[in-house]
Amino acid sequence: MLNERTLIKDTPNKIGQKVKLYGWVHIRRDHGKLIFIDLRDASGIIQTVFIPSNKEAHEIASTLRSEWVVEFEGQINERPEKLKNNDIPTGGVEILVEKIFIFNESKTPPFEVATESGVGEETRLKYRYLDLRREKMKNNIEMRHKMTRFFRDWFSNDGFLEIETPILTKGTPEGAREFIIPSRLYQGKFYVLPQSPQQFKQLLMVAGMEKYFQVARCFRDEDQRGDRQPEFTQIDLEMSFVDEEDIMNLIEKSVVDMVAKLFPDKKIQKNPFPKINHQESMEKYGNDKPDLRNDKNNRDELAFAWIIDFPMFEYSKTDKKLGATHHPFTHPKDEDLELLDKNPEKVKAKAYDLVLNGYEIGGGSIRIHKADLQNKIFQILGLSDKQIKDRFGHILEAFSYGTPPHGGFAFGFDRLVMILAGEPNIREIIAFPKTGDAKDLMMDAPSKIPDGQLKELGIKIANS
Ligand code: ASP
Repeated sequence: MLNERTLIKDTPNKIGQKVKLYGWVHIRRDHGKLIFIDLRDASGIIQTVFIPSNKEAHEIASTLRSEWVVEFEGQINERPEKLKNNDIPTGGVEILVEKIFIFNESKTPPFEVATESGVGEETRLKYRYLDLRREKMKNNIEMRHKMTRFFRDWFSNDGFLEIETPILTKGTPEGAREFIIPSRLYQGKFYVLPQSPQQFKQLLMVAGMEKYFQVARCFRDEDQRGDRQPEFTQIDLEMSFVDEEDIMNLIEKSVVDMVAKLFPDKKIQKNPFPKINHQESMEKYGNDKPDLRNDKNNRDELAFAWIIDFPMFEYSKTDKKLGATHHPFTHPKDEDLELLDKNPEKVKAKAYDLVLNGYEIGGGSIRIHKADLQNKIFQILGLSDKQIKDRFGHILEAFSYGTPPHGGFAFGFDRLVMILAGEPNIREIIAFPKTGDAKDLMMDAPSKIPDGQLKELGIKIANS
């Protein structure tokens, strides 16, 4: 029966007992007449031994190859003192195998699962399911899970509701190009994948939910920019009746608690996190995400800081048009409201970014909650009345039904995990990432779709 299984991590507690282990052949070593096989399951690795007097098992063992899936039955023995391996949790025991069952064989993998070295990233991504068998990737995915779970619990305990928002929706400006999905039922019309749940979370505040969070998948169709992913994850949240300090304090507390619980060996350089205004950061460090570590090579030093007092608008480099620095739902500083008409570029925003070791790991703002001010910001951004009505009529209307003051924040979760895991790029902490140029090498996406499907959608590909 499959459920009589013992997990490898539990073997040190079962010395002297007969057990059944399931897993993958990690490495086989033949030492004269003895055969040693390191067996791996999701919980760990254990050394197993085959002796010639267990003839049948010994014979089968000599045919086993890396990555075959097997059942081993045998007795767990304590290893002699001088043969103990203190590097792994099961290093004090081994199992003397009496019976083997082979669930499945494996082709020779394109790279060794048992070592980390010597394989290009393209191959790793094409065979990601094998790459994920490797210890480092497994640990990264496990760490990511722990962090997701930490934030889920933390915000839930603080009274936040986790609420899912739509993926098939309408555009919301966050400064990037959008992915669009053609509608079959309404040919010529399109859904847009969300760049973030921004409008929905604000509408949840209109709805009186007061505290929302979500582990939210976001989509941005950006040109190739090395370490960006076309889809990524935010820990996204929004609250009503708060100001900038309230949100920053809350986020800071969640982060400090997370580091204490999950990364006790890392040291937060300054607590409370320093606040640096945007202009000062640009002047002093030449950017708005300074690396404030004393030792820039020290992965265990965590230099968090808030960047505040962002300008509300900035001129785009390409067309010299005024754009929103954060996004157009951000509230201008109250004392700057009177500058909106004459000097919009002087207006500062109630926005804040959280930076860590030279990366922006999140940002947010207090939002506009009045329709007339929101309308005015859209006008300053150059939208016509018709464009405002078509694109944002719904939110302006919602604001006319008693909207509380509100604000929020979103962690760029992939980047946060990357930094804490000490990895050089976010692909290392995503189970199935895309390449730097937005391809899924394993699934071969994007790919062509059959003509019939295009026809159903009313789509003709130009130049093909
Ligand atoms: N939606 C924003 C972003 O994706 C975050 C926020 O303002 O809460 O950056």
